[in-house]
Amino acid sequence: MVVHLNEHLSSLDIQQEGEAELVSSSSSSEEEEEDEEEEQEEEEAENVTLGFVEKRKNPRTLQRQFFPSKAGGQPAWLEPDNLPTGDSCICDICGGPLQFLLQVYAPISEYEYTFHRTLFVFMCPSMTCLVKDQLEQKNAKSGKIARSVKVFRCQLPRANPFYSPEAPKCTDSPSSIGATLCTWCGTWKGNKICSGCKQANYCSEKHQMIHWRGGHNNDCNKTGASPQSVGCSSRCKTSSKASPIVSNKVASASQWPEYEIINEDESAFFMEDMEAKGLETSLVSQNHMDGALQSLVDKFVGSNDRESWASFQSRIALAPEQVMRYCREVDSKPLWPSLNSRPMDADIPTCEHCGSRRGFEFQVLPQLLYYFHVKNDDDSIDWATIVIHTCGSSCDTGPTYKEEFAWVQLCSTP
Ligand SMILES: [Zn+2]
Ligand SMILES: [Zn+2]
Ligand SMILES: [Zn+2]
Ligand SMILES: [Zn+2]
Repeated sequence: MVVHLNEHLSSLDIQQEGEAELVSSSSSSEEEEEDEEEEQEEEEAENVTLGFVEKRKNPRTLQRQFFPSKAGGQPAWLEPDNLPTGDSCICDICGGPLQFLLQVYAPISEYEYTFHRTLFVFMCPSMTCLVKDQLEQKNAKSGKIARSVKVFRCQLPRANPFYSPEAPKCTDSPSSIGATLCTWCGTWKGNKICSGCKQANYCSEKHQMIHWRGGHNNDCNKTGASPQSVGCSSRCKTSSKASPIVSNKVASASQWPEYEIINEDESAFFMEDMEAKGLETSLVSQNHMDGALQSLVDKFVGSNDRESWASFQSRIALAPEQVMRYCREVDSKPLWPSLNSRPMDADIPTCEHCGSRRGFEFQVLPQLLYYFHVKNDDDSIDWATIVIHTCGSSCDTGPTYKEEFAWVQLCSTP
């Protein structure tokens, strides 16, 4: 379940063992009042949490000590030291560093070691790479494949070296500096140091080159100040030691714009829709036809799969601004825009670390591209949906950031 941390922390004290949220439908108590039970059944059938993006006035609230769900900008790494390295950070098709798409804070109360749990999605911004990735994904079962979309799962117990076991206060700063990040992208570890100033760090030669040509050739060696050590502009009091991570500034301006992801239950929109239908149908559907939905409609103009597209659209129209759908339940299914290029169960590889089956956890919708101001050109990045499958046991072995499996469906099959 996706929850806000404060709710999560307070609910944890109330929740008894065996009352965990993943209750199977058969185990609901028979003594409950009848209408309450009906309501519950409806929720169980449609227990989808929707994600919406919202601009934050103070980007500080999206730092890792607040356990954010966020899209665009830089990742707020949950475990700040042992970040993914090597091939994990690059597009296997063009070799360029991957760009941060979004992260979802999704703790699981069932296990102690998933008290904090965040899923991170990265992708190469090249549409050429995504088209190739989409052809590769079918062969995932047969071994290592070249991907331009990568997902990582990171989790921590309540007692851990990085965060207080209590809910964070708004004045909190990260308790440690964490790994040094790339001066250009602010996303990956900056293991390569500029030999001129010894102050700029890079994840890759590519980002070092772009930064050099983009102005570092003038700034390098001029001042003692590294581009990262921009002071914190907000009220927060932080030691100068902590300022590099408190600052959200990175040299690159090519990240996608940063948003917080806000969650709401889809069931609330069903209720709203039913009430509205009682009043006047056409008026409501017109009001809902805003920019995000219009951009979605434009994507599928040439779709030859009208039937599934129509049912996809009508479900999305309940809350057209949604950018994400989350439902981690046994046998929960994504909402497919197209019946073409959906995976068979056998196409989803099992967890490399524990052998568990991977299940659907959430999907990213193309409305996010609208909020990222991505143009509707032929070579612009574009997808119908990105479906994230994660280890059914959310296992705790293997690396700190465990790669999970994304299935990409494009708007038109190449
Ligand atoms: Zn690429
Ligand atoms: Zn970089
Ligand atoms: Zn330099
Ligand atoms: Zn596993």
